[in-house]
Amino acid sequence: MELNILIICYLIGSVTFIIGLKMLSHPESARKGNLIAAAGMAVSILGTIFLYEEEGLRLGNYVWIFSALIIGTILGTMAAKRVMMTAMPEMVSLFNGMGGACAALISIVEFDHLSHLVQAGATADRGILLIIFAGLIIGTISFAGSMVAWGKLNGKIKDFSFNGQHIVNLVIFGVIIALSAYLIISLDTAASTLFYVIFALSIVYGLFFVFPIGGADMPVVISLLNSFTGVAAAFGGFLYDNPVMLTGGILVGSAGTILTILMCKAMNRPLSNVLIGSFGGASAGSAGKEQGAYKEISISDSAVVMSYAKRVMIVPGYGLAVAQAQHVCHELEKLLSDKGVEVNYAIHPVAGRMPGHMNVLLAEADVDYARLLEMEQANEEFPMTDVVLILGANDVVNPAAKTDPGSPIYGMPVLDVELSKLVIINKRSMNPGYAGIENELFFQPKSSMLFGDAKSVLQQLVTEIKTL
Ligand code: NDP
Repeated sequence: MELNILIICYLIGSVTFIIGLKMLSHPESARKGNLIAAAGMAVSILGTIFLYEEEGLRLGNYVWIFSALIIGTILGTMAAKRVMMTAMPEMVSLFNGMGGACAALISIVEFDHLSHLVQAGATADRGILLIIFAGLIIGTISFAGSMVAWGKLNGKIKDFSFNGQHIVNLVIFGVIIALSAYLIISLDTAASTLFYVIFALSIVYGLFFVFPIGGADMPVVISLLNSFTGVAAAFGGFLYDNPVMLTGGILVGSAGTILTILMCKAMNRPLSNVLIGSFGGASAGSAGKEQGAYKEISISDSAVVMSYAKRVMIVPGYGLAVAQAQHVCHELEKLLSDKGVEVNYAIHPVAGRMPGHMNVLLAEADVDYARLLEMEQANEEFPMTDVVLILGANDVVNPAAKTDPGSPIYGMPVLDVELSKLVIINKRSMNPGYAGIENELFFQPKSSMLFGDAKSVLQQLVTEIKTL
């Protein structure tokens, strides 16, 4: 009876993960989807703690289990409440690393368990050993790689590589596979030293795998490592014959893989180029090119041209998120719409610092989702647009991606803002964006700079437009 209830708990977990994931694909339903999946996870965890039985024995260890659950819940809640929206990729990376570490710990515990069983006379199973090693290697690589990604995103770790690093990586990986194959084939569960050598080499591989990858490619790497963690967790599901762990792991693994592919597509670069290139590291390309002079535009002139325009397109970027100016941006949009101006937002897939960053930011300010145009759609609209207002975006509107083969962002699809009649660029200075390169858009005849913090500039624009 209790076993049946446990299976129902697992079924609830699996179904809610799928429903939650589906709901995450739209900003309006994402929050609810997250809560539904979390509730399903809670049902599965509590079901396992109280109903799981093996040979008539319950899990026990309740003090340990609940102490860990309480500490984890407090730390996780505090971290999630305090994190700034712009630091979200760092936190995702840290949490993902913890998932990888858990998968690796499961393998370590289960290898030890298996060794004891074999010592007591049982025979080892090659299938089980294969699963243990797969979980150990993938989970550890994901943990070590995610820690480096976390350090890179918060600026504590710089890009690091040496000549022949890719060959060294290949050799390390080859040794890991060879040692694992030896232990699996020989069924040698007493060789715990070799087991820990594999563990240590996996840590080194994870570090070396991410060290040379450029800072701006970190989201792609995090997404890839996320899929690794999912696969490692799925191996845990096989090991424990636990369907909810298997479903969760497979969903994370496949969702991470799809996201990785989509992000590579958005940057128009193959994954191999992301893993071997160094985009966003030391800047190159047009950085040193002489660009000429730029012009500035005042708040009042900007307010006038936007108020009397037929169509205005707002291009949000990382700076809008830093300034937390989404609410006042929405206010500006409503004000202009009330004056009969058609206002839309052009959303670049990698604007900001995480996938979907601009959608989440604008949804927070209740911007109508119908006004958010995806890049392809926005690019068709620019020739009919009178004024483009760029708010803290830089790389995603850099024409060098189309015109300068030497630029590190060459090939990345960008927003064709220069096709509109007038471009107003709001940022605080002439400093470059994430890729560290200059932007020739700022020096083009149609462009005018509107310097200042996005929130304060938008507040001034709103005040000015109200007086017109
Ligand atoms: P960028 O990082 O290229 O540029 C942001 C601009 O905002 C800067 O030039 C900065 O200029 C300006 N800015 C900063 N603070 C403010 C402020 N308070 N008010 C006004 N402006 C401000 O951003 P984009 O969104 O254009 O491009 C995103 C970049 O990040 C791409 O290179 C992308 O590949 C990368 N990336 C994307 C991730 C994702 O998944 N979306 C994750 C990680 C990186 P100034 O200092 O002069 O104000």
